[in-house]
Amino acid sequence: MPNYFLLGLIGHPLSHSLSPILHKTALQFAGLKGEYRLIDITPENLQSELAKALQIGLKGFNITIPYKEDIFRLVSNHSTEAKLTSAVNTVKVEKDGSLTGHNTDLMGFKQSFADSFATEMKDKTALVIGAGGAAKAVIVGLMQMKVAKIIIGIRNTEKVNSSIAKIKSNFLQGEENNYQLPQILAVNINDFDTIDTNKERVTAVINASPIGLHEGTAPIWLNELMDKLPANCVCFDLVYRKDRSEPTFTKIARAKNMPAVDGLSMLVHQARLSFKYWTDVDIPTSVLFASMDQNTKNTISSIEQI
Ligand code: NAP
Repeated sequence: MPNYFLLGLIGHPLSHSLSPILHKTALQFAGLKGEYRLIDITPENLQSELAKALQIGLKGFNITIPYKEDIFRLVSNHSTEAKLTSAVNTVKVEKDGSLTGHNTDLMGFKQSFADSFATEMKDKTALVIGAGGAAKAVIVGLMQMKVAKIIIGIRNTEKVNSSIAKIKSNFLQGEENNYQLPQILAVNINDFDTIDTNKERVTAVINASPIGLHEGTAPIWLNELMDKLPANCVCFDLVYRKDRSEPTFTKIARAKNMPAVDGLSMLVHQARLSFKYWTDVDIPTSVLFASMDQNTKNTISSIEQI
């Protein structure tokens, strides 16, 4: 159907996602016919299941954990943002069937950070936990904010060094030549105690790992890190929970009275940009935020009825 927007989300697992509510709201607000399906694909079936989804007429799709880097390699065309981050969270199926990869996490992160905190990041240090697809968008966003230093906390530092080199070279190709690149270094999360957070002027910590997605105890290294941070350090958690409860990193930060935000606002901003990319319709973020509040009310009332 030419005017039917068959959209979806590819990832594994997907049960935590609020994206269907956002895109259903957007389709209704725009007066467009369509749907947004959850397409849960296990890693060994990524290519074959994606091909099947395309055969049934998918027009656009989002990508979540753990496939943002795989899909970057699978699509034939890349937007500027996808090239900068080497990660894709949004794909448009073109009229000739070719796939264009885009990255709306980058702008989504920057917009949400600016909405949430008045903190100026120029010449400051940021600490990023995780180095996957979402972390790459965060790192490029921080580079565009002109931070002086980015410390990436990761379980396996060797894996990250080639990604850092690639991000730096992508950035230099895409940005003005006189830009001063920040220092970017990878530190094993178990060696966080070696970082002098005051001397380093750590101004923001961003959790770009799935830690805290589900209820559970926080890792010891995370508690130790949070104890060392300056009280005014801002804490940005990419994780959000479907029931809108506080994810672990957000919860620890707020318990210490540090400024903290979970991933819901970034989710809304990146969803708005993805929807605009597919349909050319710009949905007001207020409409999308309202759908999230409505969802919470529905969840709470259904719990009350049980
Ligand atoms: P990904 O590509 O799979 O990357 C996850 C990263 O986190 C990897 O570097 C991984 O390291 C690290 N990690 C995983 N478990 C860890 C643990 N227990 N301890 C320390 N590091 C760990 O996933 P992604 O697409 O980047 O997504 C990451 C998270 O951000 C997800 O929870 C996703 O839902 C969220 N997200 C939210 C938004 C939003 O709009 N709010 C947007 C994008 C992503 P290893 O290599 O060692 O496994």
